[in-house]
Amino acid sequence: MRLMLTLGSLLLMLIAGGWAVFFMLQGQWLIVALDVAMAATGAAALVLSRRDSLRHAALLLLGGLFVAIGAICVFLDVPSGQVPRATHHFYLSLGACAYLLFRGERPLLRHGVALLFLAAFVVFASCDAAIVTPYALPDEVRVSGTWVNNIFSVLTLYLVLHVMQSDVTARNEMEDELRTALDEQQLVLHYQPQIGADGQVTGAEALVRWEHPQRGMVSPGEFIPLAEQTGLIVPLGAWVMREACAQLVRWSKDPHTASLTLAVNVSAQQFRLPDMVARMRAVLDRHGIDPTRLKIELTESMLVSDVEDTIEKMTALKAMGVGFSLDDFGTGYSSLSYLKRLPLDQLKIDQTFVRDVLTDPNDAAIAQTVVSLGQTLGLSVIAEGVETEGQREFLAGIGCQAYQGYLFSRPLPIDKFEVFVRGRVAGV
Ligand code: C2E
Ligand code: MG
Ligand code: MG
Repeated sequence: MRLMLTLGSLLLMLIAGGWAVFFMLQGQWLIVALDVAMAATGAAALVLSRRDSLRHAALLLLGGLFVAIGAICVFLDVPSGQVPRATHHFYLSLGACAYLLFRGERPLLRHGVALLFLAAFVVFASCDAAIVTPYALPDEVRVSGTWVNNIFSVLTLYLVLHVMQSDVTARNEMEDELRTALDEQQLVLHYQPQIGADGQVTGAEALVRWEHPQRGMVSPGEFIPLAEQTGLIVPLGAWVMREACAQLVRWSKDPHTASLTLAVNVSAQQFRLPDMVARMRAVLDRHGIDPTRLKIELTESMLVSDVEDTIEKMTALKAMGVGFSLDDFGTGYSSLSYLKRLPLDQLKIDQTFVRDVLTDPNDAAIAQTVVSLGQTLGLSVIAEGVETEGQREFLAGIGCQAYQGYLFSRPLPIDKFEVFVRGRVAGV
């Protein structure tokens, strides 16, 4: 998706820039202004996609193109008896492109944007609506323009169809491979230390990794969303939970690790299972672990729907002794009234706020607010993504007492994690 947006933005800048020069030479300043605006839109979309704001980049790019093509159809590509209009054909390929770019989004965005483009195509294909101004291009220019537009719009459509097909094939392959990975135990847990105010390791977050036989280590960012879409997250999450409990049993037998807590990410789908509480009770009983050592990380997105069910399950698990941390806090839409009702133990400041906490006053204010909120609600606060000593000092200064991040350690395989813990205990 990022590649598509980058290419699209670059192409837009190039084409708009080229036309700007062309019309500048002809002294058509209104068209030059339109081209410059389009090139600027392309540049802004490029910056956004580089910063990982893919949805905003896609909206900006498609929005800019929608307006530009409309303007060209109305003012420049005015149909005549001899030469029909052709620019609107791009609405077809861009509609398909929008469908592809927003495939993981809500239906309104996924279908709405694509249908808007298709509707614009239908309007321009069905009527000759145009405004006659001195800018209307002469038929001689439009004859060759029609050929160029038709060829390019069909090529773009073909390209989008090709990407769609490859995307589906790649997803199907990955889904099959992920099933195999679960069966053949290609998944492993890595452990990222969580550090207390005194620098001691208080526990870890379990982060799943996929040791792919051909591709090497695959990050969860790639396969967790797919697992969620295909429902594979349920068996995957169950495996993670069993593995985490087995690890807690092993830790409980060693005085160095007996007091560690283990945080496990549980996805919304897994938590929504009607028998979630019974499943958890069965796993805890089977392993015989102390449930207070286990911390479930939930994300704010879980609180958008079915809050009552979430609260009920959390309360039942909490009664068994299991702790709860609210992951990626600040990125979702937590309503404060719900927050008060949830039996939480911890808020986790999202790494996007920690990243710029020293340079962006807004992020610093958010971090400060989360810490105050935690204090008011009687919850502990941990910051994730702490990478520098400066960030840690700032966080300590505002009252955040627990940290997780590359400053201390990346997520480690179990043997390395245990070496890390021993090193810290020995004061190394
Ligand atoms: P998360 O739970 O918010 O985990 C934190 C992510 O930030 C991890 O990425 C971790 O490696 C990374 N991180 C930690 N410290 C730093 C730092 O200092 N700098 C930077 N730049 N990054 C840091 P990871 O391991 O790739 O996991 C990504 C996400 O995948 C997790 O986000 C979590 O939402 C999901 N995930 C991972 N394991 C599981 C799992 O077992 N089950 C479920 N449902 N989701 C999982
Ligand atoms: Mg987490
Ligand atoms: Mg997080």
